[in-house]
Amino acid sequence: MSGSNPSLLPHERARPLTKGSTYPAKELCSQCGLCDSRWVAYVRNACAFLNQQFDGMEARVHGRSRDLNNEDELYFGVQQRMLTARLKAPLAGAQWTGIVSRLGVRALETGLVDAVLCVQQSEHDRFTPVPVLARTPEQVLAARVNKPTLSPNLEVLEQLPGSGIKRLLAIGVGCQIQALRAVEATLPLEQLYVLGLPCVDNVSRDGLQTFLESTVSSPETVVHYEFMQDFRIHFRHSDGREETVPFFGLDTPKLKDVFAPSCLSCFDYTNAGADLVVGYMGATFGRQWITVRNDRGAQLLALVEDELDTAPVSSKGDRRAAVQQGIDAYDKAVRLPMWLARLVGCVVNAVGPKGLEYGRFSIDSHFTRNALWLRRHHPKIAERQIPEFARRIVARYRLPAL
Ligand code: FAD
Ligand code: SF4
Repeated sequence: MSGSNPSLLPHERARPLTKGSTYPAKELCSQCGLCDSRWVAYVRNACAFLNQQFDGMEARVHGRSRDLNNEDELYFGVQQRMLTARLKAPLAGAQWTGIVSRLGVRALETGLVDAVLCVQQSEHDRFTPVPVLARTPEQVLAARVNKPTLSPNLEVLEQLPGSGIKRLLAIGVGCQIQALRAVEATLPLEQLYVLGLPCVDNVSRDGLQTFLESTVSSPETVVHYEFMQDFRIHFRHSDGREETVPFFGLDTPKLKDVFAPSCLSCFDYTNAGADLVVGYMGATFGRQWITVRNDRGAQLLALVEDELDTAPVSSKGDRRAAVQQGIDAYDKAVRLPMWLARLVGCVVNAVGPKGLEYGRFSIDSHFTRNALWLRRHHPKIAERQIPEFARRIVARYRLPAL
């Protein structure tokens, strides 16, 4: 990692690494890929799990940090605009309607960027991620659909020097984007655009296997799944069959250990450092949810807006009692029999939170769980790792004793 010429920048002095040789976040590492590139030289400052720095990142990237007295910003981050949408012509094989892939294609077709950082899949395993710098629309389309496992997106930074890529669109989840933003000024780029995905509860490839085996009828045929706003997980099998499992029917005792420790210590659910975020959690069932954080985000959305059926965000219900009950049930690792889980699921879906209130339900549930996990398992770093916005949200609930 060190060289002899002091006039060079740290990443210019760094030698390419042997993959996996060092991950300073240790157990909390999300395998974001930074340490598999020469930008490992900045890891102590850049790693989302060693140096949480939301305020500085938001101020640098968006021109200001989030307004903690504004409920929408407290929950969903700095924003110019939120809306819901779906592609009028949905993209076959995409995770939802394919807004993300279509945006990547348009960014290349219009010459906005030279390449798109996205995640294709291994030819041997549909769930093993293979990050790439896509140079053609076909390569972007080959990256459609989630690989629901930790993905080393930033390892492809290693390919930037000498590639001729000067303008890049990076697609990624929060921990990847936090590290990317921290090294942005040192990248050999003229312009970086960031299209963020919300993300929680990611898993290693082995963890995914445990999850599928404990949840679904035939794990080997699953090609797609998503936790959806109707409080059910929707699985699609290779023969086109759909299977749904209510959240409340999950094998909590077994699954408590499945989520990656990085994801149990993360509060960047809504991807604070992205220019534009495309998820589903703040939209009603079947639609995608979009947050424009700054002018670059608006520029990205403009690439596809006339191809979208859009609607304003909406919000219905009151999440708070359900979140509090969920905190206690999760802590006791309660597992409901499936008939009861389906019944509870139907009731909650009929009267429960919708739209932005569903997004807040999910954020509250994950932030309280993660704050408790950190305070129990990593008490020395817990308070430094929990950002102020998450602290305020967690303080609204009664947590079990440490
Ligand atoms: P597509 O057009 O199908 O494109 C999917 C894009 O995802 C591709 O460009 C690909 O590069 C990228 N990608 C795939 N796997 C990964 C990965 N492992 N890491 C980084 N990038 C990847 N949204 C929510 O609202 N709430 C959630 O809790 C939530 N959790 C998520 C967890 C994970 C691990 C991922 C990858 C995404 C999550 N999302 C979540 C985002 C959501 O599932 C959709 O990806 C998003 O709405 C875009 O849908 P689309 O049809 O436009 O995407
Ligand atoms: Fe390195 Fe990324 Fe792991 Fe942090 S999360 S140790 S930056 S690979």
